[in-house]
Amino acid sequence: MDIQLDMAPCGYFSIADSGIIQSINQTLLTLLGYERNELLGRHIESTMSVTNKLFFHTYFYPYIQLYGHVDEMYFSFRTSDQQDVPVLLNGVRRTRNGESVIDCVVVVMRKRIEHEKDIMNTKTKLQELYQATNEANQELERLHEEYKVKQQALIKVNDQLETMASTDLLTGLKNRRFFQDKMLGSLARFQETQCVFSLLVVDIDHFKHINDTYGHPIGDLVLGNLAGLLQSVSRSTDVVARYGGEEFVIILADCDRQQAVTIAERYRSQVASADWGEYNITVSIGAATVSQEDTEQSLFQKADQALYASKTGGRNRVTHAAEAASNGSKPS
Ligand code: GH3
Ligand code: MG
Ligand code: MG
Repeated sequence: MDIQLDMAPCGYFSIADSGIIQSINQTLLTLLGYERNELLGRHIESTMSVTNKLFFHTYFYPYIQLYGHVDEMYFSFRTSDQQDVPVLLNGVRRTRNGESVIDCVVVVMRKRIEHEKDIMNTKTKLQELYQATNEANQELERLHEEYKVKQQALIKVNDQLETMASTDLLTGLKNRRFFQDKMLGSLARFQETQCVFSLLVVDIDHFKHINDTYGHPIGDLVLGNLAGLLQSVSRSTDVVARYGGEEFVIILADCDRQQAVTIAERYRSQVASADWGEYNITVSIGAATVSQEDTEQSLFQKADQALYASKTGGRNRVTHAAEAASNGSKPS
């Protein structure tokens, strides 16, 4: 055997069809831990474990007899000190000097197996990570659902709080705070669009008398009933609120002086003609229509002065601030 083959960086051996080793290079001898004379003339299977012998028999021999070669066969040799060495084996069957021989090269596979192990480990780790990510995502989704439910509940509570904060407890109408916000909004809209609105201040006539005659609880009942009536007369765009005591305010959107008087008259007459049982309830109303120089206070003051004019004029009536001013009727 020439030196290149003897010392090649892979194992080499040739066997007869019977499996008897005819030549073997130094690289393979070193790998298996034998001297050349220990293996030459012996059966190749003497360098294999029982399992690998079986495999060699059932796979290598039939295959190489049938096809004349074996490629990349993976199995293990056993060294002289009984260690298994994983190898990759290529074999080719040919005729030399009139006899059939099988030449084989052997490459040790330890590193590749280590790589494969690494790859398997990495794959397992990746699967574990994937699983953990999946579980974390599911938990996140669950938390998100929980968050959404809680958020809905919070929105509902906030809505309830907002409604409570803007509602008058006794009458269920909007309260003074809400009215003041709406007034500011209406003024801003007026300044932007020049679309006029009007304000009504409604005050029950001689309400003290109701309290004095029937008692405060009945007075409360009347306030509640009147609130319901005002609300039922109102249009969807009107804002009806309790300003305080027995005084109510109504913002009439898109409403000029003339319309304000007509609408106020409707409120007044509906109250006067309603069935109040044994009492007689009427309201006096002061109306004012917004003008360029108005503030929230000035507009309210004008409507209040008009209300005063309705009171002094005999009650159960409507006065518009413009007409109150021209009549020179002012509260002292
Ligand atoms: P006027 O026609 O001039 O408006 O006479 P009035 O009696 O209605 O006016 P006044 O301001 O003298 O009295 C208002 C009364 O309204 C006095 C007060 O006890 C009563 N009042 C204010 N708030 C409430 C309330 O929440 N419930 C009840 N029952 N009465 C109230
Ligand atoms: Mg009153
Ligand atoms: Mg009053």
